[in-house]
Amino acid sequence: MEIARLTIPQILEGLRRRQFRAVELASQALRFAQAENPKTNAYLHFCPERAIAAARKVDEAVEQGQPLGPLAGVPVAVKDVILTKGVRTTAGSRLLANYIPPYDATAVVRLEEAGAVILGKTNCDEFAMGSSNENSAFGAVRNPVDPERVPGGSSGGSGAAVAQGTAVVALGSDTGGSIRQPASFCGVVGITPTYGRVSRYGLIAFASSLDRIGPFARNVRDAAVLLGVIAGRDERDATSAFAPVPDYTAQLEGGVRGVRVGLPREYFRDLSSETGERILRGVETLKKLGCEISDVSLPTTDYAIACYYILCTAEASSNLARYDGVRYTMRSKEASTLIDMYRNTRGEGFGAECKRRIMLGTYVLSAGYYDAYYLKAQKVRTLVARDFAQAFEKVDAIVAPVSPFPAFKLGEKIADPLEMYLSDIYTITGSLAGLPCMSVPCGRTASGLPVGMQILTRHFDELGMLRLAYAFEQAGGPEA
Ligand code: GLN
Repeated sequence: MEIARLTIPQILEGLRRRQFRAVELASQALRFAQAENPKTNAYLHFCPERAIAAARKVDEAVEQGQPLGPLAGVPVAVKDVILTKGVRTTAGSRLLANYIPPYDATAVVRLEEAGAVILGKTNCDEFAMGSSNENSAFGAVRNPVDPERVPGGSSGGSGAAVAQGTAVVALGSDTGGSIRQPASFCGVVGITPTYGRVSRYGLIAFASSLDRIGPFARNVRDAAVLLGVIAGRDERDATSAFAPVPDYTAQLEGGVRGVRVGLPREYFRDLSSETGERILRGVETLKKLGCEISDVSLPTTDYAIACYYILCTAEASSNLARYDGVRYTMRSKEASTLIDMYRNTRGEGFGAECKRRIMLGTYVLSAGYYDAYYLKAQKVRTLVARDFAQAFEKVDAIVAPVSPFPAFKLGEKIADPLEMYLSDIYTITGSLAGLPCMSVPCGRTASGLPVGMQILTRHFDELGMLRLAYAFEQAGGPEA
């Protein structure tokens, strides 16, 4: 059995026909993932007992002829910012190196109710801050396509695990691009659902008004299955939406003839030529499929990076205040007073990027600067959202690159935080506007590096986005 290539429908079919048992699949998947993991460092830890227990339940259901859940027996990886009861959850931080959550995130509960088998927790940038996974306290992740290169971040472990075949699908989180960018760098599908579509209950907070949980998969259909399972109102997250969740997989094949696709002019200016060339070829495929292509403009794009890095650091500085050495975290041994204990715990526990963002966030929220920075950035955020709203009066979907360049080398950008921030230019706008957005593989560069095409649609129109991605994938991507 080629675990590395299995799809969700193949797993369900195999279980129904009794070609294999879920427990067999789970133990093979665990063995395979553990053996392959040193190549990428995608997983931080495995949870074999939990995996086998979940698989056993699936086997019992098969034996008793009960209906199987949509993820029955499917080996899943979960980013280590998403809480798993009794299974260590670190957020890639030294501070939480030994944190064992007392409850599960809603997304995790829903996965297991659907029959999923969680294999383990994946590596990520500390508190999901980064674009390369190099900010993890537990070592960088290598891109399975080229081990000299980063897998993207912050959900680098989830992207790498799915690309490497050590999980069939995975959960990641996206605040400013952390699902789409690693999906693009690793050559897999990554979906950032509409803000509010998936409950954030049990997601370790980075910037609460931007954070979202979403799927990674090797094909659009599998990603759609996973999204259908985790989406929907949850009374434990007041920002989760009441919007009904359509049956995504049942409606994937509707075709895309007549769908109006907009290309934002501002996104095609500063691309590496190879990335631009791949995306434009992808657009040719959409044309052949019957989409109507036109230009749109998102004029506030130039301000998006500044706006995002004010808002996300402001929110982070507040969210990260809870890691004080009293609750959750490790505690510094070097302290004789309470204040020293706070200081030393945070000083020893947080990595450089978190400290940078806490300082920046505290600064932009401080009394003298609040109006000049935080409030101004909130207004710019509204303008970014308005740009999209105007574009969506003319078109049904927006197609753009995910990143200006493909996966870069480990160490290439880590010394220059500003350079690293600039790599988020095309993902951050969709994040600020709360729109559904995704990355779908769009061929490779001459040197074999994956390129991802970004698709954005109106709020809660994940179905329109998935249909476009599915039609594109089925047509053969940019090579159609
Ligand atoms: N790269 C962006 C950042 O560092 C996005 C991270 C994310 O989406 N979690 O903030």
